[in-house]
Amino acid sequence: MKRRFFVFLLFSLVSIHAFGLELRGSWQQGGVIVGKVPDGSQIEYRGKKLQLSSLREFVIGLGRDAPDHATLVVIDAQGGRTEHRFAVKQRSYNIQRVTGVPQQTVEPDPEQVARARREAQMAADARKGNLPLRFFAQEFVWPLVGPITGVYGSQRVYNGVPNTPHYGVDIARPVGTVVNAPAGGVVTLVHPDMFFSGGTLIIDHGHGLSSTFIHLSEILVKKGDEIVQGQAIAKVGKTGRATGPHLDWRMNWFEERVDPQLLVGAMPSQ
Ligand SMILES: [Zn+2]
Repeated sequence: MKRRFFVFLLFSLVSIHAFGLELRGSWQQGGVIVGKVPDGSQIEYRGKKLQLSSLREFVIGLGRDAPDHATLVVIDAQGGRTEHRFAVKQRSYNIQRVTGVPQQTVEPDPEQVARARREAQMAADARKGNLPLRFFAQEFVWPLVGPITGVYGSQRVYNGVPNTPHYGVDIARPVGTVVNAPAGGVVTLVHPDMFFSGGTLIIDHGHGLSSTFIHLSEILVKKGDEIVQGQAIAKVGKTGRATGPHLDWRMNWFEERVDPQLLVGAMPSQ
């Protein structure tokens, strides 16, 4: 346990001040990097210019299966381009292989399939905004304290067929336990009961970084509300397709799934 904490510190608190670029975050799959460019400069990632805050900050997210390097291009005031290449640590996820078990094949109800598809689109739309908010640069905190029962990236493979990976961090707490905002933001989606995710809340922290909270029993905020860090936003539930009461907290950088645990570090002792 102690050792993991140290590893986390190494990867997340090391700041790089090179090439006039300031960077902090975790250069690994699922990591989030917050940076600042020199005065008058712009920054490009994967062929697109990133939005800069009033303090010239930007954010990028590295997906679960991100390649082993990432390139940032700094464009100076004269239009000169400098490429910077960063190694991205490759992770090994918890993959459970289940073989020889007859998989239950249930004919999907076309109405439920259509509903789930519509709801997935609503969530995607709620994460699309490139909102000019600076909350992404805040130091994130755990939305609640409790035992971690599921982690980012884990996956089950049934008879050789991989299921969708689990992208959230699961924290088991009784129904009704208050969930607090891990950082400030604006509420972009409130849904009382989605097919898979039940009570669903999305908070946009700015520049494409967002948090999604699912299986909620109650949501205490409204769409469009501006939230401050630590504010009570919802209550734990087991709505949707949940096996028991828990909070499932996911984070995105636009459509890229990132690991919330890399932003908050070790869970405080209970
Ligand atoms: Zn989960």
